[in-house]
Amino acid sequence: MKIAVIGTGYVGLVTGTCFAETGNTVTCVDIDEEKVKKLQSGIVTIYEPGLEVLFERNIQQGRLRFTTDLAEGVKGAKVIFLALPTPPDEDGSADLKYILQVAEQLGPLLEDYTVVVDKSTVPVGTAELVHERIARNAKVEFDVVSNPEFLREGVAVEDFMKPERVVVGTRSERARKIMEQLYAPMVRQGNPILFMDERSAEMTKYAANAFLATKITFMNEIANLCERVGANVDEVRRGIGTDSRIGKRFLFAGIGYGGSCFPKDVQALAKTAEENGYNFRILKAVMQVNQEQKTKLIPALKEFFGGSLQGKRIAIWGLSFKPYTDDVREAPSLENIKVLLNEGAIVKAYDPEAMENVKKILGNQIEYAESPYGALVNADALMIMTEWPVFRTPDFEVVEQLLKNKAIFDGRNLYEPRQMAELGFHYVSIGRMKVA
Ligand code: NAD
Repeated sequence: MKIAVIGTGYVGLVTGTCFAETGNTVTCVDIDEEKVKKLQSGIVTIYEPGLEVLFERNIQQGRLRFTTDLAEGVKGAKVIFLALPTPPDEDGSADLKYILQVAEQLGPLLEDYTVVVDKSTVPVGTAELVHERIARNAKVEFDVVSNPEFLREGVAVEDFMKPERVVVGTRSERARKIMEQLYAPMVRQGNPILFMDERSAEMTKYAANAFLATKITFMNEIANLCERVGANVDEVRRGIGTDSRIGKRFLFAGIGYGGSCFPKDVQALAKTAEENGYNFRILKAVMQVNQEQKTKLIPALKEFFGGSLQGKRIAIWGLSFKPYTDDVREAPSLENIKVLLNEGAIVKAYDPEAMENVKKILGNQIEYAESPYGALVNADALMIMTEWPVFRTPDFEVVEQLLKNKAIFDGRNLYEPRQMAELGFHYVSIGRMKVA
């Protein structure tokens, strides 16, 4: 099948590459000329495990191409995916300008029946808006389908090739058949393609992300309470996670969720509720708790230094919002760095993949290390922001030698408090009592 993917970011590039891998001919379109030039010259523009191999293979075999020209990109495409940004507007609602602008441009370009697919996360009712925009200038029949994406950055290729489910919102039999054909290779093991109406599909994506954000936040609140009552959140997590109604995943306490999805999607769903006269109280609490959770370690850090961070050198391990990605959008690390710099601290950070993206935001406001240990040289304390595996089993003798104080503030609960106490570290983590 001939496919076009408009927007070649995290979702678009994975979508395009994976559909090429299953034998389709894919053209990816992006307005970012620099990005397209890189992709055309064989450079993968995001860090995503497993993507490069598929990317190279499909370019070589002529099934995957890149262009900045929308008309050229969609020519002859039977299915056009919109994988465009939907960032928060000033009032928190999802900004649809990218989607609607492209929809408007698509109308006159369609030459035959086409399925236009919303892959971006968009508020309920967007499929109808997109339909209306295309229809303004279209001369052929088309359908607009909602097909929200559930891939997780870091395991995006695996998630896309073997999704737990595919959600397709359409009431058109014709579009349904095409979507079924396209996704058939991905659901060979029997995972379902769930067909539903467009509005329910759009809501499903927000409900999923809001639920997951709530689960994380609930556990963070349990952790905060554990600290006050002398319980250990890790034990509590194991205690409740074995209950299949609760499940083991998304129960790890820490310094909150970030990323390009949860924060904006929770906010957008709350806004949808507000616009429809519904007071979605849980979501408001989730947003508030998460915001506070991100910088939860700062008071303990300040206390350790007698109330002031002025001139203190703080090492940071981990900048991405989670491991296995270079994405730093809404990352707790950035929030912490902002506070540290405001308080007069000097920051030296290390991340296996995300330093280039942080450099684009912070430039030389902070220092960058070439290795985890490099960040520790002459540092007054270490803060851990992301649970990259490389941070899990450091040589604590080396850590001790390099740090000026044996102090670790761990936002991801990587180490055992008892072991850290035995090694003589001042160790602060989330939801676990400090062992003296
Ligand atoms: P992104 O910012 O990485 O990529 C968007 C791309 O669209 C950029 O490359 C940008 O240059 C391009 N673009 C903007 N305007 C354009 C235009 N007019 N024509 C062509 N290209 C244009 O965003 P993303 O993370 O891939 O997210 C895209 C959508 O998918 C969002 O709605 C997001 O909520 C949703 N989503 C993201 C993830 C994720 O993990 N990142 C997961 C599921 C859903």
